[in-house]
Amino acid sequence: APTQVEDAKIEGAVQIAIGVKKEVDFATWYTNVLLKADMLDYYSVSGCYILKPWSYSIWEEIQEWFNREIKLLGVQNSYFPMFVSSKVLEREKDHIEGFAVEVAWVTRAGKSDLEEPIAIRPTSETAMYPYYAKWIKSHRDLPLKLNQWNSVVRWEFKNPQPFLRTREFLWQEGHTAHLTKGEADTEVRQILELYRRVYEELLAVPVIPGIKSEKEKFAGGLYTTTVEGFIPTSGRGIQAATSHCLGQNFSRPEMFNIVVEDPADPTRQGKLYVWQNSWGLSTRTIGVMVMVHGDNQGLVLPPRVASVQAVVVPCGITAKTTDEERATINNACEALAETLRKDGVKAKADLREGYTPGYKFNDWEQKGVPLRLEIGPKDLKTNQTLTVRRDTGEKKPVPTENIGKTVTTLLDTIQKDMFTRAQNEYFSKIKEVTKWEEIVPALDSKCVVVIPWCEVVACEDDIKERSGRASEPQDERAPSAGAKSLCIPFDQSKWTPIEPGKTKCPACGKDAKRWTLFGRSY
Ligand code: AMP
Ligand code: ZN
Repeated sequence: APTQVEDAKIEGAVQIAIGVKKEVDFATWYTNVLLKADMLDYYSVSGCYILKPWSYSIWEEIQEWFNREIKLLGVQNSYFPMFVSSKVLEREKDHIEGFAVEVAWVTRAGKSDLEEPIAIRPTSETAMYPYYAKWIKSHRDLPLKLNQWNSVVRWEFKNPQPFLRTREFLWQEGHTAHLTKGEADTEVRQILELYRRVYEELLAVPVIPGIKSEKEKFAGGLYTTTVEGFIPTSGRGIQAATSHCLGQNFSRPEMFNIVVEDPADPTRQGKLYVWQNSWGLSTRTIGVMVMVHGDNQGLVLPPRVASVQAVVVPCGITAKTTDEERATINNACEALAETLRKDGVKAKADLREGYTPGYKFNDWEQKGVPLRLEIGPKDLKTNQTLTVRRDTGEKKPVPTENIGKTVTTLLDTIQKDMFTRAQNEYFSKIKEVTKWEEIVPALDSKCVVVIPWCEVVACEDDIKERSGRASEPQDERAPSAGAKSLCIPFDQSKWTPIEPGKTKCPACGKDAKRWTLFGRSY
């Protein structure tokens, strides 16, 4: 009969395979990585998924960081109910038009039908703002800055994808009210900058901050700012997070009537409708990170969000190894992990019995642990450990002396390198295009395009229609083949300056206003 170790070897061989290659069948690769990394499980309701500890811990890292930052801006956390009465939900016409088709309703309790169906929030503007009207009575009550960590439900009919597009998702939604437009504008950008940092500094995922076109802005808002991500393997853009200025649209009298006396008016007669923002970041973050960094061995975690940053694996144990030698190696591994933990590294020694080192290597590689440290009998003698990077596979022996500092530096390097590689790839896939004929070929080569755009709504519809036409027929639930505007980047300096009245929109020939990213998207 095979020994325990041989059993594990066989099992290890099976487990190595992510099954399909990322560049061959991306959709299957993605779900395989999520399952094999133990991040997610399927659920009995379509479009809903279970977030297991290995992915939820990433969300916790994001929460912890973002909470600290927004509290510095004076934002407080609170909680509003998930149910919204149909009356308030339907108060803002543009807003509800944008969301109506995705709203889930409670129509029955037990055996009796409800007199009036109750909506489950797709977002909480309408749930919160009646109370903002009640609480904000004076300009001294401003600014009001509340955030909540919750889940929302959007009964999407597009193909669901774990993390990217799910019917229930976790997010934070911030809702603030200000006295002036200037204050609201400033905050919109402060929050967007935090979103950029969540992606770039925590997840090592590059994004492009910008403003959404009129067609793509938040339903009922004044303008929407966004950080736009990119998935190189599919060549598609993805809206990574959004910070909206709602203007006075929700505060005006026929809406929620959130009003204070104008402090600048000496007669005290003047009324001022508050300026509002709302902003949200969801668990989509995790999916984007997996898609950008994962490889054919599985998940690759950026050190900043990894719940295990370094795993120590005992090696060189054979049938001839005595119990005493084995214990010495295991103890050295545990001691090394302990030293690392004292120095602030999230480290773990994998001392599981009955598994080969090879099995353990594969296991932690699939789970994306950024760094592996190996200790064998020889290393003990030379006071060394072999470090193996998950992102590059690079192996390097290092002295165990000062290991905390060495590993911390190495993790920083991994984090930076992962970001730089992803950013170079994103930038290399943005094609500056000034002729219509070049747009579809660029999209077909898995790029997004940046064009000098006229910013006319009808032109965007036209671009979407014409750029989708050429492609082979698609499953209607698949992401569309036509290009939509992703964002108008705030930083326009990367591209040839637009000459007013001279530079023309390649789609319609009208005067171009700003360079705008267009692409196929999720
Ligand atoms: P919104 O309130 O529509 O601006 O959404 C805020 C953010 O949540 C968006 O920028 C997306 O990144 C994310 N998001 C929107 N819909 C979904 C969904 N169905 N699943 C996961 N994340 C989503
Ligand atoms: Zn145009």
